[in-house]
Amino acid sequence: MRKRWRFPILLVGIGAAACRHAEPADLVLRHGAIYPLATDSGRVESLAIRDGRVVYTGEDAGARRFIGSRTAVLELRGQMVLPAFRDTHMHPSEGVGLGECRFDDLKTKEAVLDSLGRCAAAHPEWTWIRGRGWQLPVFPEANPRREWLDALVPDRPVFLTAADGHSAWVNSRALRLAGVTRSTPDPPNGRIERDARTHEPSGTLRERAVDLVASRLPPRTQEELRAGLLRALELANRYGIIAVHDASASPELLEAYAALDSAGRLTARVIAAIHVDPRGGPEQIDSLRAWRGRFPGRHLYAPSAAKIFVDGVIEAKTAALLAPYRDNTGRSGEPNLTPAALDTLVAAIDAAGFQVHQHAIGDRAVRMALDALEFARRHNGPRDARPIIAHLELIDPADVPRFAALEVIPSFQALWAYADEYITRLTEPVLGPERSRWLYPIGSVAKTGAHLAAGSDWSVSSMNPLDAIQVAITRRGPDAPPGPPWIPEEVVDLRTMLTAYTAGGAYAAGAEATQGSLEIGKDADLIVLDRDLYAIPVTQIHSAKVLLTLLAGREVWRDRSLH
Ligand SMILES: [Zn+2]
Repeated sequence: MRKRWRFPILLVGIGAAACRHAEPADLVLRHGAIYPLATDSGRVESLAIRDGRVVYTGEDAGARRFIGSRTAVLELRGQMVLPAFRDTHMHPSEGVGLGECRFDDLKTKEAVLDSLGRCAAAHPEWTWIRGRGWQLPVFPEANPRREWLDALVPDRPVFLTAADGHSAWVNSRALRLAGVTRSTPDPPNGRIERDARTHEPSGTLRERAVDLVASRLPPRTQEELRAGLLRALELANRYGIIAVHDASASPELLEAYAALDSAGRLTARVIAAIHVDPRGGPEQIDSLRAWRGRFPGRHLYAPSAAKIFVDGVIEAKTAALLAPYRDNTGRSGEPNLTPAALDTLVAAIDAAGFQVHQHAIGDRAVRMALDALEFARRHNGPRDARPIIAHLELIDPADVPRFAALEVIPSFQALWAYADEYITRLTEPVLGPERSRWLYPIGSVAKTGAHLAAGSDWSVSSMNPLDAIQVAITRRGPDAPPGPPWIPEEVVDLRTMLTAYTAGGAYAAGAEATQGSLEIGKDADLIVLDRDLYAIPVTQIHSAKVLLTLLAGREVWRDRSLH
């Protein structure tokens, strides 16, 4: 703290004359398009960093006095500098899965099976074939079958997580090992997809039914977890991200973070939301508290939030809706817990001083999440709690103003807000046009003055904030040519999105006093981009490249092209 204030005191105490000989900076960036607040106001040419903090922003001429014999100088030639990005909802543990069979970009059943066959053959040492990233719209009814896997891998169990993480596709061997048969009932909040005629499990498991097989997987070692986290954070740094909210951390993961943190190996600030069992009730608060005490944050890491899944996803009809899905079943999707149970649980987590982080996708789940936070405020009294609700795919218009009113942080995954196949084939048809108007209502929520934050939900979808930022502005796919936006009322501007990814993220982490912008005295968390986003057509935003990422002045990513 003392160090932090040394510079301003010097400046004020000694006066302008001494400024010609200001204490040299460690790094000066100059001749740039530097946006200290991420918004398009207050643009400057130069920025100086000392001891990890910003000590100067302004014209090039004024930066000269910070250049000493040991000061590194980076000539930006008009390149853009922004506060570094912050992702308020992602799953860094999925870095472990980067080494598994991957199907993320495959568009046909044949391509997925072909890739799986090659992956299994390449790894004869694996006792389980694990993979992830298959896309729901690739398969009829989002419902792939076990026989297709059996034909390729008959002798080893196969467990393949869908891209959205809410379904798994398994082979017969895996079902047998887990003892899942025709007579196994669906678990609460889970569904075993079955053959319509024989009633045999057909190979796809939804939500909690995934656990039936997942619980048989060999556990990850600490070494695997640490390596996976490092891979994920390295990817984050490449995209200019220096802070992540881990949206569902297990005790094993908290341990891995703590080990990396004390070894000085974390390359991003981590706010870990400890996974809460939605059916576990408030009794589990003691163990949440105990974990928080056992793995205290030291440098970059804070196990300070708790995460509750309120519902599932619309595509698999597991999201909780206020009115039924239009599929003639009359189902409207069951939330993972009753409204009363959620109220009690959220109030208990809030009372224990945790930041509450909820997953809510359907309009009923969103309303329940807001109701529970309102209940907690009434019950515990108002405090600076900064609760987060993530995803927010469908919000009833009546609930839109409640984010600002209840001081709830909406964490949007803006990359999902365009009419891809998830929307046109699996979402709009089951909602109908009237409700579909309120899909990802980012613009409406932004207009209410809520503190917007943003995130990728990686590895569900691309971690690159620039992809999501462009989609929020165009409401079209990142690669789509210019054209009419999907739900034009919900378009937002670049300034709104850059703020959500910077100052909004810092606010969500309770760190806005020292982070989230590049004002003097704040941490030098910044990125250099190869072009000025405010000066290019919006359809080019996703092609911009992060050349340099600094975490409190420390270089955590540098592109080879940077001179
Ligand atoms: Zn998530």
